[in-house]
Amino acid sequence: MFRDTKIVATLGPASSDATVLERMIRAGVDVVRLNFSHGKPEDHVARAQLVREVAARVGRPVGILADLQGPKIRVGKFADGKIWLENGQPFILDAKCEVGDSGRVGLDYKDLPRDVSARSVLLLDDGRVVLDVERVVGSEIFTVVRHGGELSDNKGINRQGGGLSAHALTAKDMDDIRTAATIGVDFVAVSFPKSAADMYMAKQLIHAAGGHAHTIAKIERVEAVAALEEIIVASDGIMVARGDLAVEVGDAAVPALQKRMIRLAREKNKLAITATQMMESMILSPTPTRAEVSDVANAVLDGTDAVMLSAETAAGRYPVETVEAMARICLEAEKSAEVTLDSEFLNQVFTRIDQTISLAAIWTAHHLKVKAIAALTETGATALWMSRLNCGVPVYALTPQPEAVTKMALYRAVFPLFMTQRPATRDELLHDAEQLLMNEGIVEKGDLIVLSAGDPMGTSGGTNTLKIVRVGDQQPWTN
Ligand code: PGA
Ligand code: MN
Repeated sequence: MFRDTKIVATLGPASSDATVLERMIRAGVDVVRLNFSHGKPEDHVARAQLVREVAARVGRPVGILADLQGPKIRVGKFADGKIWLENGQPFILDAKCEVGDSGRVGLDYKDLPRDVSARSVLLLDDGRVVLDVERVVGSEIFTVVRHGGELSDNKGINRQGGGLSAHALTAKDMDDIRTAATIGVDFVAVSFPKSAADMYMAKQLIHAAGGHAHTIAKIERVEAVAALEEIIVASDGIMVARGDLAVEVGDAAVPALQKRMIRLAREKNKLAITATQMMESMILSPTPTRAEVSDVANAVLDGTDAVMLSAETAAGRYPVETVEAMARICLEAEKSAEVTLDSEFLNQVFTRIDQTISLAAIWTAHHLKVKAIAALTETGATALWMSRLNCGVPVYALTPQPEAVTKMALYRAVFPLFMTQRPATRDELLHDAEQLLMNEGIVEKGDLIVLSAGDPMGTSGGTNTLKIVRVGDQQPWTN
């Protein structure tokens, strides 16, 4: 059973052991997420190493995503680790305060007093604590507690409606990009980008560090929603980062935004990951709630490339069961996903030969009801174009490039297959492609497949050929 929707799982204490990791990968993890908000560079290097060993043993392609911390705006520490805030009490956020107490706390982000003013609303700890700003005097923000509760060391701060000037890429992020490049990760996720410029900057830093990663923009700021189109264009994909996004725009606005973001990403030939609290209750419980099942299924129906697990696999009690449940929900939801090549596609104008071939392959596969599309690809670009529309036929992306294999692990309805050597002639290509698909049990004699390739082979962007093949009925490509 092939699952179209991919699963991203965050690694952490609950999933660092080789045995658990192996069970998670067997259960269906396609991409692992290294969360650079936690841990030291050497921890991430070691984790990535382990993932590659286990993936090789299991024989499944597993991509690696490095998620940068970004300018997480946080309170400082308290003398006793935490305090309790009562509704209506005054409370001061003070950029100069060293150690907090029941009346005030310091700030990691020293510019916060400049970014807020009377009537700003600050949401702490993902919105669990709400403060109304009364006035700002120098380094001190005087507030009144609207919703009290426990507040502990280093909890995050969001401003309702956005408007914090902190830069998306911090000095720490720049160091982490170098670590990510050393690891050779497939994806780098940028936290809190506000504009396309942030994403172009990330891409430049990755290249300067010798990396080849695709960039993923985490949409979690009000400003990013306003600049959504340009951010999508400037990135290889986006993450619907519902945790911070819900705090900034209000939780009720998130479901509709999720649909719009995924649709726009796909229209612009980009990737989409849906993240945060998808299976939250499974941190402690062996089964998901009805609401979580619906949430995952709806993300699948929205057309997401991948659904993501955070604390569920990083720190939860049931990392393997969570992946199993998520895989099962995705598979079932995919059965009811509508298969249509929407009419807009027919009216699109393509200027690139490789893109035109990719879409011709989908059209052909859809109409002939073939068993599989076999796309020979150097970078994965053809497979990406093919997977932006749901033609109901799986795309087997054959590539001699190991980097393309692990990147395509994230693409919806794309199944990357590594070719140990690049075929030298078109006849060899036909033979190798058939052989690979038969060995994997994907096709058998008599099945129809649609094959795309470049002629001559081996140049990226060179796809210019489409062939319909009946398996086992092999006529030489050329005479
Ligand atoms: P985070 O990002 O888990 O790194 O905060 C995801 C989100 O905000 O949803
Ligand atoms: Mn976030």
